[in-house]
Amino acid sequence: MSIAENVARIRAEMEAAALACGRDPKEIQLCAATKMNDADAVRQAIAAGVDCCGENRVQELTAKLSQNAYAGAPVHFIGHLQTNKVRQVVGKVSLIQSVDSEHLLLAIQKEAARQGMIQDILLEVNIGQEESKSGFGAEDILPLVEKAGEFPNICIKGLMAIPPISHNSGENLKFFQKMFQLTVDIKKKIDDNVKVDCLSMGMSGDFPDAIACGSTMIRVGTAIFGARNYAKDSSQ
Ligand SMILES: *Cc1c(COP(=O)(O)O)cnc(C)c1O
Repeated sequence: MSIAENVARIRAEMEAAALACGRDPKEIQLCAATKMNDADAVRQAIAAGVDCCGENRVQELTAKLSQNAYAGAPVHFIGHLQTNKVRQVVGKVSLIQSVDSEHLLLAIQKEAARQGMIQDILLEVNIGQEESKSGFGAEDILPLVEKAGEFPNICIKGLMAIPPISHNSGENLKFFQKMFQLTVDIKKKIDDNVKVDCLSMGMSGDFPDAIACGSTMIRVGTAIFGARNYAKDSSQ
């Protein structure tokens, strides 16, 4: 199957999942998780109509930016970001989805202020409380959003989660539901002028469940590009 065919199939599945729970399919964006795929594959995905691209590694982002690979679509950062690399990401991507510590928030604030711009971000929640994953605890989110004023060069657009790897549909429903509840709790507590409308969750294996639970952005790699060839990847 070509990338274009895969994107068309995923769009149809997204639409079916949205309609099945009474949601408007237009509320849900498709982010192509482009890690380990080259500029040509990225261009094919954009031509096929993905809403944005998500890159995991600073080195790949920088390389593909220099190749103008993302022309025609916004690019997001979705991987773990080290504070010493914020300069290569802040102002280069329209959304940093994977802000996983207060330390990183501060580093982004500093860099965005230096550039005189406002960086849109999502707060990453370690919703499965996995030791191997970074991210805020669910209980950290409300206090953080309440002090968003301390980060004048950052705009918190919402939340992102990578739940545990699931092998069966339905396995991650409880985590997706918790994430949705968290956005509801935030909306109840904070001023109307803080927008936390983006809920980024759902990947190749579980996006219909994520959509059923209120996801507004799914991040899909394998189902668009095919299996990643880790053997080829010398940087791992
Ligand atoms: C790779 C990746 C995805 C996509 O995973 P697939 O299972 O290949 O669809 C989504 N989100 C993040 C943060 C990723 O690193």
